[in-house]
Amino acid sequence: MRPSSPIELTGTASHLGDAPAPLSDDLLDALRDAGDVVTDEEGTAEASRDWWPLALHWSLHGAVPRRAAAVVRPTTTDGVAHVLRSCNRAGVAVTPAGGRSGVVGGSVPLAGGVLLDLTALAGVESVDATSGVVEVRPGTFGPDLERELRHDYGLTVGHYPQSFDLATVGGWVAARGAGQYSTRYGKIEQIVGGLEVVLADGGVITTGGAPAAATGPDLTQLFVGSEGTLGVITDVWLRAWPMPSAERRGAWTFRDFEAGLEACRLILRRGATPAVLRLYDAVESARGHVGDGSTCTLLVLDEGDSVVVDAAMRVVEEVCAASSAVDVGAAPVDAWMEHRNDTSALQALTRRGFVVDTLEIAAPWSALPEIFRATTAAMMAVPHARSASCHLSHSYVDGACIYFTFAADPPSEQIDATYRALWDAGQRAVLANGGNLSHHHGVGIVRGRFMAEALGAGLDVFASVKQALDPGGILNPGKMGLPTGKDTARWPQ
Ligand SMILES: Cc1cc2nc3c(=O)[nH]c(=O)nc-3n(C[C@H](O)[C@H](O)[C@H](O)COP(=O)(O)OP(=O)(O)OC[C@H]3O[C@@H](n4cnc5c(N)ncnc54)[C@H](O)[C@@H]3O)c2cc1C
Repeated sequence: MRPSSPIELTGTASHLGDAPAPLSDDLLDALRDAGDVVTDEEGTAEASRDWWPLALHWSLHGAVPRRAAAVVRPTTTDGVAHVLRSCNRAGVAVTPAGGRSGVVGGSVPLAGGVLLDLTALAGVESVDATSGVVEVRPGTFGPDLERELRHDYGLTVGHYPQSFDLATVGGWVAARGAGQYSTRYGKIEQIVGGLEVVLADGGVITTGGAPAAATGPDLTQLFVGSEGTLGVITDVWLRAWPMPSAERRGAWTFRDFEAGLEACRLILRRGATPAVLRLYDAVESARGHVGDGSTCTLLVLDEGDSVVVDAAMRVVEEVCAASSAVDVGAAPVDAWMEHRNDTSALQALTRRGFVVDTLEIAAPWSALPEIFRATTAAMMAVPHARSASCHLSHSYVDGACIYFTFAADPPSEQIDATYRALWDAGQRAVLANGGNLSHHHGVGIVRGRFMAEALGAGLDVFASVKQALDPGGILNPGKMGLPTGKDTARWPQ
């Protein structure tokens, strides 16, 4: 499979910087030793964008954020090591990319240079069916992985992001993603058991490999969520489960979002972890045609061993009954399952000039009600805002991820400013009320300017690690709020 185009691209300009400086003939020859190389304007422009919603507007006006000088598509770990060694020597930036489905500009080559397309490193390498451990190459897309695991081994990894068809295993790990069934199977950092990583100087390391360890800090987790800034992931070991033998669904409506949040908290505190536990505020419930427009909808689905599933659903039923929630049957879950990965509204609204995006964060249960109120209010106070809504999408024993969707319809010359103002208002309201910067979309370009606020002195530690592993600063410069010595385009400018 190959990356999907997020929307039509009508030109090859660089919106945030100059056209890229061409690479030397020596470097291009070295890259050709590693894999296919593309240098034409159309090919490099197409590969230089992801699903960052603001950049979709730029695509419609003939520009990508910044164009790479070359795209290289190696097929082996040695090929990746050769690319990094050569670029490190030449001081040329390398931006790793998988499915390019990121929504924060993570795989956009802000310094031009080389776009490292990892989708040719694909396929399941080995399966330990007894232990449930799968070795898979990073460029493998979700459907290919699950098809082979289910069909040949009766296993599932259980990671189903909404972008399942668009994203790769390497992108899941590098962006620290979450699937829609994460409350049962865990977020990707719980699913990943080990990695092979190529460092900036071309050295190769292997991390993890056991169910647990006491061998110092967890080096696997150093690279999980590093968004291509610390190394390139070339092999991944994932934990897999037997295919579920049972599945149950149910839905309830609550008088308000806070009552639904409290029910979710109680379900988790009692130890039940239903795969899907999604609570929609009144705006999103009405959009989903559930309830009378004033209530909030909880969708629940669990799968696995029937004894465990029945026990989890019994906890859900008891908590919902005690909360005076109304049982509305499984039909709303069936409808959600049918349409859950449909993303056509994003392109349609973008073409009509709307600013649309999502902001997902995690926070302790005690902070969630105020974050919900403060963040939706802050975004709605931004000029031209038309809606700000929310749902809970992933739950933990100590808190949850809530996911805001916002839309505005500014005059066309104010699209960039309105987009920025909505992020400033929403993200700052989250941070001020005890939420974190991101639960699963990552940092990329969009959230770089909030990293110092969110991490404090921790950002200096991250920058020291970056300096130690990549002293030439070639890996994905300009991202995650890290300092960069490269000629890197900036957003906001
Ligand atoms: C419609 C839609 C729905 C989405 N739903 C979800 C969701 O439910 N859950 C979720 O978690 N995310 C979701 N996302 C965001 C996105 O799909 C995820 O972040 C995904 O994990 C990115 O994978 P990718 O292969 O497309 O990576 P890319 O977008 O290509 O890259 C993402 C980041 O990882 C780095 N990277 C990629 N591959 C490697 C590698 N092998 N080594 C080192 N660095 C690498 C890139 O440099 C970049 O910083 C959604 C996106 C869209 C467009």
